[in-house]
Amino acid sequence: MVEQLTEKMVAVQEWFPGMGLERPIIISGPCSAESEEQMMETCTQLAATGKVDVLRAGIWKPRTRPGSFEGIGSEGLQWLTKAKEATGLKTAVEVANVKHVYEALKNGVDILWIGARTTVNPFSVQEIADALKGVDIPVMIKNPINADIELWIGAIERIHGAGINRIGAIHRGFAKHGEKKFRNAPQWQIPIELKRRIPDIPLICDPSHICGNRENLFSISQEAMDLNYDGLMIESHRDPNNAWSDAKQQVVPERVAEMIENLEVRTEKAENGESLLEGYRGQIDQYDDEILALFAQRMKVADNIGLYKKEHGVTILQGKRWDEILNHAIDKGEKAGLSAEFVERYLKAVHQESINHQNEVMNS
Ligand code: PEP
Ligand code: MN
Repeated sequence: MVEQLTEKMVAVQEWFPGMGLERPIIISGPCSAESEEQMMETCTQLAATGKVDVLRAGIWKPRTRPGSFEGIGSEGLQWLTKAKEATGLKTAVEVANVKHVYEALKNGVDILWIGARTTVNPFSVQEIADALKGVDIPVMIKNPINADIELWIGAIERIHGAGINRIGAIHRGFAKHGEKKFRNAPQWQIPIELKRRIPDIPLICDPSHICGNRENLFSISQEAMDLNYDGLMIESHRDPNNAWSDAKQQVVPERVAEMIENLEVRTEKAENGESLLEGYRGQIDQYDDEILALFAQRMKVADNIGLYKKEHGVTILQGKRWDEILNHAIDKGEKAGLSAEFVERYLKAVHQESINHQNEVMNS
């Protein structure tokens, strides 16, 4: 199915004839539509920067707790239409159920997106897909709240199955217990894996919902550019501090423009100097081969340890020994310029593989 998907994926630059969207495409606008004035002011300011391609606004807001602002509802779609007429920009809206789809289509919204809380639910995604049968509109699919790539791909397949070929994936980060720096941890390996599995899918980063604040918006946007993303969705508001939702992460339209101006947009291939890069890549490949060979040797030793422990009735895990290994490696790694986080993650993965090997030997 994913193979079929790949064939028909339309590049974001070709979503609208004649629009000539350059990379990155920039989608911006308020978290929520609040009033006609707020929409018109924010959107005309965005358009005046000349840096924005698509206006976004949340019309129906899925909120964790009832009683918070849950979106202005269909009325807001008319404000979006007015903003579109005033600016000539395309519009995008989040849809979470069939009613939202009909309302958005009726009001001439140009692009739909499916939010993180909807992507997690295949029933909801399928209902939206069924409502879209026979409709030719671009649909962007945010990653699910949890770090489950299959759920993300599943939603893409369901929408594609409805005959939609203009599909984009929005990376907005993943809820993670204990994460402090980000509202939603980026976990870049997941969108990277999505691109590996569906190479042609346009990938858009939403730094606003990853960061949950203003401080890291630029660095996350730059990182997305360096990973060759096709676009950015950044929340903006004429008066961010007084926004009715997501006040901490929104920025004024001029700040959006300033960030776009300062982004280094690099290409996947250099015009010259490729041979130097090829050389470095050769070195990396060689190191990777050597590391794998070393792992294989390490696991052979683990097998021997397993045999020894079996013969002598010793448990696989000795807490003190594991603690020593970990602390020693973190210390040594830090001296060699490797982050403690990386060393811990790497060693835990190796340790688990080692336990699996010993388990196999001891219980076969
Ligand atoms: C939003 O874009 O305002 C939104 C609700 O985002 P998410 O689905 O990523 O939480
Ligand atoms: Mn928001």
